[in-house]
Amino acid sequence: MTALQQSATECFICRKHRGEVTIPGGAIYEDALLYVGHAQIREGQATAYMGYLMIEPKRHAPRLFDLTNEEAQASGLMIARLSRALRDSERAEHVYAFVIGDGVLHVHFHVVPRYPGAPREFWGVHVDEWPDAPHGGPDEMAALCDRLRRQLASN
Ligand SMILES: [Zn+2]
Repeated sequence: MTALQQSATECFICRKHRGEVTIPGGAIYEDALLYVGHAQIREGQATAYMGYLMIEPKRHAPRLFDLTNEEAQASGLMIARLSRALRDSERAEHVYAFVIGDGVLHVHFHVVPRYPGAPREFWGVHVDEWPDAPHGGPDEMAALCDRLRRQLASN
């Protein structure tokens, strides 16, 4: 099946929202429009880049131009709020936000912290490839999500 044929039934992100797929830490934030969670641990790896977050519309909106104005506004606000939470709780010195969407056709905003000391060659979309960045397994991811929930509640 190509990505173009993905429906809400098979969509990885929709399945996660329905609770059919579990990612350590669960929903950091959830309302009628948005779901926010930590990115999963990549296949073949034991740990994830800490604080690599995803903002997703609850609705199966395949591409950016499918977002409603309401979803787009909520997403933009959440990017800013998560950036502040990553700065204040996880000591991020910079936060990236980007959409690629070639793999899973359900809009997801990557919100990715850059930690102090990251060498220049890892800045940008490759920041999570810096081997000395904070990495963690399911327990560390769950603890980070708890911290971010508390931080979001206070900003
Ligand atoms: Zn979907």
